[in-house]
Amino acid sequence: MADPKGFMTTPRQDWPRRPVEERVKDWDEVYVPGALLPIISKQADRCMDCGVPFCHEACPLGNLIPEWNDLVSREDWRAAADRLHATNNFPEFTGRLCPAPCEAGCVLAINQPAVTIKNVECAIADRAWEEGFAPPRPPDRLSGRTVAVIGSGPTGLAAAQQLTRAGHTVAVYEQDDRIGGLMRYGIPEFKMEKIHLERRIEQMRAEGTKFRTSTAVGRDVGAAELRARYDAVVIATGATAWRELDVPGRGLAGIQQAMEYLPLANRVCEGDLERSPMSAAGKHVVIVGGGDTGADCLGTAVREGAASVTQLDIYALPGAERDEDAEPWPTYPKIYRLSAAHEEARDLGTAPAADADARLFAASTLRFTGDADGHVRSLHLVEVDARRRPVPGTGRTLPADLVLLALGFSGPDRGDGLIDQLGLGTEPRGTIARDAGFATNTSGVFVAGDAARGQSLIVWAIAEGRAVAAAVDRHLTGSSRLPAPISPYDRPMTV
Ligand SMILES: Cc1cc2nc3c(=O)[nH]c(=O)nc-3n(C[C@H](O)[C@H](O)[C@H](O)COP(=O)(O)OP(=O)(O)OC[C@H]3O[C@@H](n4cnc5c(N)ncnc54)[C@H](O)[C@@H]3O)c2cc1C
Ligand code: SF4
Repeated sequence: MADPKGFMTTPRQDWPRRPVEERVKDWDEVYVPGALLPIISKQADRCMDCGVPFCHEACPLGNLIPEWNDLVSREDWRAAADRLHATNNFPEFTGRLCPAPCEAGCVLAINQPAVTIKNVECAIADRAWEEGFAPPRPPDRLSGRTVAVIGSGPTGLAAAQQLTRAGHTVAVYEQDDRIGGLMRYGIPEFKMEKIHLERRIEQMRAEGTKFRTSTAVGRDVGAAELRARYDAVVIATGATAWRELDVPGRGLAGIQQAMEYLPLANRVCEGDLERSPMSAAGKHVVIVGGGDTGADCLGTAVREGAASVTQLDIYALPGAERDEDAEPWPTYPKIYRLSAAHEEARDLGTAPAADADARLFAASTLRFTGDADGHVRSLHLVEVDARRRPVPGTGRTLPADLVLLALGFSGPDRGDGLIDQLGLGTEPRGTIARDAGFATNTSGVFVAGDAARGQSLIVWAIAEGRAVAAAVDRHLTGSSRLPAPISPYDRPMTV
């Protein structure tokens, strides 16, 4: 801690976002380029080095936050990058995309704005790339053991990098044409530019990890065949089976799942398409679902030039402050948060009838109606109470030419046959079953990430990837020095 009074003398300052009118005209990240580094050392100085760092406990990766805050406040970027990479393979991903449960657990946050931990993480990661502090780290010697990792999202990438660096020969199988999982075709460019993904993939290739794209295990290559060919298999296929909205009119044209819509917009940014065939341009858009995926649809529809965009959330409008009885510090509270996409929608007035920014809260969809051609034109909704019972007299109708369903995901997609071919057990909610060592009921086959945990976050996915790598390394060699930040049963901090 370079300045022990930093938290008293320096107010919290976040990485500034570009003006709304400017950023909605492009797909670049929403932040002002170059504006983080000049402010970040003083921000890191706000860390009190409190002695019992709950931020560290709240981070599933166990990031050594007070240590790197201190190093950044002293501008020792190389040491900070080393400490950060000791616990996180991909800090530039979490530094941009993590909801930062660490900040909710920051001791300063008991009665002041938390340290900007996520911004500090991002600054260290970006600086590490600029200065060459994140070179490829190929293994000194090979173990002669082989591992197939199925799925190239953050779980699969973290597992593959750890296992490659431990000396095993690793091939990552990915059904899509590009590597990255939901970070590639789900999360939009304005939240994280794909350059960050490309850089890591290049680093991994240089370390020796092999990538096999456009190869769906179970369809293009048999899962049992893969099991026979490799010494171990890690399943990291995610949880992409989307939830449906079973109401009258669902079959009308123009009602799409979020993960049908977002990949097309991402493909426009990749240069694969001139224009998305589902573009929101000129349309009245309603997004059903109040989570992150819905917010990503919102920011995308705004950039595509929608006539109006409204987002429906089944939950009531949350308060601005945490409820100290229900969700006391240091848990991650459900409070009103204004994402960049919500800020854009609010400032542009995309949803004049909204309760806040572009959102209608406590809103439940009753049915859709369409035109003579079978295309959706209206969404009918009603307000609901905390037990989701309709409130009489609150029915209303929104114009809707494009409806995006962002209702979450129920578990792994079973269409590829992988689960059946390997004879894997599943949990009642559809995820792949595993024991305390990340092993499935089929010998030599392990599972990690959303495929086992259910729909989660990138920080959990990276932690899962690191932990499953340690389990696989132990399986292959009898012991492991790889870190395992979590067990399969760990969950976010609650009361
Ligand atoms: C739109 C959206 C936005 C999100 N935004 C955020 C955010 O801002 N912050 C955050 O922390 N989290 C966010 N999440 C959640 C986060 O992306 C996931 O929790 C995380 O990506 C899970 O990682 P994973 O590696 O387990 O699975 P995934 O990222 O889903 O990767 C699984 C990969 O496996 C591949 N695959 C599946 N089956 C096969 C097969 N049979 N053969 C070969 N490959 C296969 C898939 O194609 C995919 O590439 C978001 C999710 C969505 C949908
Ligand atoms: S990964 Fe997330 S929880 Fe961990 S330090 Fe970074 S922002 Fe905080």
